[in-house]
Amino acid sequence: MIEKIYDRILHRNPGEKEFHQAVWEVLESLEPVFARRPELLDESLIERLCEPERQIIFRVPWSDDSGKTHVNRGFRVEFNSALGPYKGGLRFHPSVNLGIIKFLGFEQTFKNALTGMPIGGGKGGSDFDPKGRSDAEVMRFCQSFMTELYRHLGEYTDIPAGDIGVGEREIGYLFGQYRRITNRWEAGVLTGKGVLWGGSQARSEATGYGLVVFTAEMLKTRGESLEGKRVVVSGSGNVAIHAMEKARQLGAVPIACSDSGGYVVEEKGIDLELLKEVKLAERGRLSAYAERSGARFVPDGRVWEVPCEVALPSATQNELDRDDAATLVRNGVLAVGEGANMPTTPEGVRVLREAGVLFGPGKAANAGGVATSALEMQQNASRDSWTFEHTEARLTEIMRHIHDLCHTTAERYGRPGDYVAGANIAGFELVERGMVAQGLI
Ligand code: GLU
Repeated sequence: MIEKIYDRILHRNPGEKEFHQAVWEVLESLEPVFARRPELLDESLIERLCEPERQIIFRVPWSDDSGKTHVNRGFRVEFNSALGPYKGGLRFHPSVNLGIIKFLGFEQTFKNALTGMPIGGGKGGSDFDPKGRSDAEVMRFCQSFMTELYRHLGEYTDIPAGDIGVGEREIGYLFGQYRRITNRWEAGVLTGKGVLWGGSQARSEATGYGLVVFTAEMLKTRGESLEGKRVVVSGSGNVAIHAMEKARQLGAVPIACSDSGGYVVEEKGIDLELLKEVKLAERGRLSAYAERSGARFVPDGRVWEVPCEVALPSATQNELDRDDAATLVRNGVLAVGEGANMPTTPEGVRVLREAGVLFGPGKAANAGGVATSALEMQQNASRDSWTFEHTEARLTEIMRHIHDLCHTTAERYGRPGDYVAGANIAGFELVERGMVAQGLI
């Protein structure tokens, strides 16, 4: 039955391989749910869940500093609003296409449900490549992008945020243009804003911090902690850096991270202050960090070769495959927590699961970012701003709640310790209840 539904989804969405992968992973987990509640299949819930409520594709023309005109494609997929307004980030990266945005929007729907906050799922972005572009070029691109997108947004409708290639700088330009077009100071229409102008404390830290809190909770179920553990992270952006920071605060040693040019290893621990300077402030390369810190730089290598107890893939989708998983297992990894969205391939997940490695899927483990976006919306709605400590305490509480929800749901379905099943089933049950309660729309 599930195969038949999946087959129809494949044919309706040709060529969208990341979307197919994300859908199949969820459907596979739901088999025990359908066995207990076959009526769900009659209501075509899966078909409804896999069809976005609305998909917007638009032209984004802009001119570079030399006056040359470029055309990019903009996307916003408003996936599901059963539990709240569409919420999810924008990704600016040359690899972006409809299939990638749909996979991200689909995942986001379940992730957002797991946070327990009133937010639906959506995602957007563009195939624009911000790498090597001046601030003025990025600004003109963002202004053009928002000139079309603004009509689809609103604090009660759809609230974008950042993702790969979209950080505080881009959110600033997007917010400025939204405000200019609408003549409304509507803080709650975008999250990830600067703290000075309606942003939340701890939002930039949230995804990485939350990931490590989730991973520590997984370790706790086996009587383990992060104390003294070697942590290897892929990526060296916002998520990766703050994951390493929280890991260090909890007594672990972050020893390696990567970017598209290679990876660095530093047995005594990565110098996070220098890394922030190079990667976040200067938008530089990891090789430049290695030159300044004296760390070993391995160009073009796989960061998963570095032996560790905890691995946190925090760069992009399908970056940890079967061979990488086998290497990690051989080197004695205890836990893998996904900071990125779907960074582990299905074969990679299988290898880790069969070896008994604790595995926290992205839609649960990296939900701290969007959860803190929902906290930003709360602050905006009440025209308030909370302290860092208060915001972080709320984030920690939410991550523990997500962990426990996934853990108990997996147990309830006879799959103890299977966080993939736990996250998919718990997320599905929440969204499904919202959809059924609101009738056939
Ligand atoms: N892009 C992030 C995610 O995947 C954050 C989304 C948001 O804050 O809305 O969860």
